[in-house]
Amino acid sequence: MEQQTKNIKPGKVYLVGAGPGDPGLITLRGKYLLERAEVLVYDYLASPKLLKYVPKDAKLIYAGKKGGTKHTHTQEEINQMLVDWALAGKTVVRLKGGDPFIFGRGGEELQELVKAGVPFEVVPGVTSATAAATYAGIPITHRGYTASVAFITGHEEPGKENSNVDWSKLATGAGTLVIYMGIKNLPIIVDNLVQNGRDPKTPVAVVRWASTPEQHTVVATLETIVGRVEEEAIKPPALIIVGEVVALRDTLDWFE
Ligand code: SAH
Repeated sequence: MEQQTKNIKPGKVYLVGAGPGDPGLITLRGKYLLERAEVLVYDYLASPKLLKYVPKDAKLIYAGKKGGTKHTHTQEEINQMLVDWALAGKTVVRLKGGDPFIFGRGGEELQELVKAGVPFEVVPGVTSATAAATYAGIPITHRGYTASVAFITGHEEPGKENSNVDWSKLATGAGTLVIYMGIKNLPIIVDNLVQNGRDPKTPVAVVRWASTPEQHTVVATLETIVGRVEEEAIKPPALIIVGEVVALRDTLDWFE
């Protein structure tokens, strides 16, 4: 690619949040950039319905990254792709599910662009935590219920050495806990929350494919959620919402 890039003005990479699933939840800025993309690199969790906004002659690259399965491209390959296309002078849109800076490795991709001297812009997106709560009828904060929320990754096994997630502090440290990528580790997560002082009667909701026609929500308590999720065979992608606010769904559910 070196030869071809001579005398070409470097392009730019737009790191765009696609929103949680419903294509209507992308920002106007995000849609504007999709309409001008020359190269689009998109993930499994970005709604495929958004591809219709991209010009017909644009190059579409599926980056994969479905949790738990073999990644279509490694993170290193994706980083390199973004750098190469931008240095070839292209307008590159990197479309990511939800918000690029919330468990999206968006920052890592930008660090590579910085190293390569590629200019970029970041467009935030509706993260799946707020979308799942909204579409399940659960206000993640509510006066009299909770004044704090924590977004946590459940991908790291609780208790593993050098874990970045301190469950002993988080269990009771925030009123509402929203856990991404936690379905596989749900039994260990629940155990850690209860062991660290969270009331076993605390309501929990698990929301799969939030904001899409496939949305499915299961509500239980910390004591009973593992069994319920097994019964309903809930698979990723799903979010776990823990806290008293989950009870508000009884009257506020509007979508399912
Ligand atoms: N950057 C994304 C999160 C990527 S991590 C965001 O801001 O939403 C991937 C995890 O996000 C999944 O394992 C799941 O926990 C959650 N997720 C993403 N989209 C979802 C959806 N539509 N419904 C439920 N969970 C979703």
